[in-house]
Amino acid sequence: MTRMFDPLEVKRDFPIFGHNPGLVFLDSAASSQKPRAVIDAIAHYYKHDHANVHRGAYALSQRATDAYEHARAQLAGFLDADLDEIVFVRNATEALNLVAYAWGLERLREGDEILVTEMEHHANLVPWQLVAARTGARLKAVPLTDEGRLDLDAFETLLSERTRVFAVTQMSNVLGTINPVAELAAAARERGALVVVDGAQAAPHLPVRVRELNADFYALSGHKMLGPTGAGVLWGDSEALKALPPFLGGGSMIEEVTIERSTYAPPPQRFEAGTPAIAEAVGLGAAAGYLMDLGMEQVWAHDRALLKYALERLKEVPDLHLYGPEGPDRGGVIAFNLGSLHPHDLATALDDRGVAVRTGHHCAQPLHRRLGVAATARASFYVYNTRDDVDRLVEALFEARAFFK
Ligand code: PLP
Repeated sequence: MTRMFDPLEVKRDFPIFGHNPGLVFLDSAASSQKPRAVIDAIAHYYKHDHANVHRGAYALSQRATDAYEHARAQLAGFLDADLDEIVFVRNATEALNLVAYAWGLERLREGDEILVTEMEHHANLVPWQLVAARTGARLKAVPLTDEGRLDLDAFETLLSERTRVFAVTQMSNVLGTINPVAELAAAARERGALVVVDGAQAAPHLPVRVRELNADFYALSGHKMLGPTGAGVLWGDSEALKALPPFLGGGSMIEEVTIERSTYAPPPQRFEAGTPAIAEAVGLGAAAGYLMDLGMEQVWAHDRALLKYALERLKEVPDLHLYGPEGPDRGGVIAFNLGSLHPHDLATALDDRGVAVRTGHHCAQPLHRRLGVAATARASFYVYNTRDDVDRLVEALFEARAFFK
């Protein structure tokens, strides 16, 4: 059952705020804070249920296996997917590398094209570069409009019979732009391309019914959606996963092994070689459960309302340059620069006032090159942020501006 959404009440679920009174945490796009439900689930697992999974013939190992598989079920519920479509990995980066290497090395040839976009995080760009270098495939990128959206005309032109992969983020970690993934994916699939969606920023904020995206693969990082570091998910359409050769080899992913060769377990086990991050998966399951209790529709509505308020208030600050589109296709991420001040100096001044924002290129150098700047400061919101946090940011920006004048 979903509960009434009150960010102040939500904030009380996060011990970090009790331990850091006055903290205005605006860096959830990098990594979110963790609710008590997640911290307790991990501690409970270690105190009561830990053993290795899928192997032991004893009750404790069965309890550990049950806890791990329950987490898989929670993530399947979160994405509205089937159980065997959920592969536990360490993070979105690993999920994207898994697809790039396992699929790309086997299927890509010279003359094939991999279509990415200019707003990709390096995690959805560099793996494709590595695989392109080894297969002779070429990378092309969908450019951006001046508002910070994908140029859809250019997308249509770039898409061709040679396009074997279309790799796109559902939400930009710098501009907040939400891309029309389902439409783009349908067009790419029509040309026979594999569609890989980076959901690292979208999954924590939007209701995702993953099958509706027309994608083959979807990657997310648990630590950005209230879970611990070290656990993420690769969702794969069951046919796409069945056709995917293994990435890492070792224990747990095989059926039969001789000295010469092996046969492999069906998905998802085929992609979970070695002892998995069991406690982390349990924590991620608890995070998905917590978010489903809040209700992802309510999480998204809160995000949108806070973004709207923040954009209004930030426009009061003279010389503040805001990046990213305005409209319903935007999540709670705001990149900005203040006059000619270096964003690192700005972030330090904000930190002196208790406001934590991120600065740099946010692992999106091609995007920053397009924006014509080397770096930006970035404020990002999540379930525990309030209008008061936005007011504190605006106040701190006014003070920083006066200080550096
Ligand atoms: N994709 C996007 C859009 C991101 O914002 C990030 C992290 O910031 C990643 C991928 C990579 O996430 P991780 O470092 O958890 O693998």
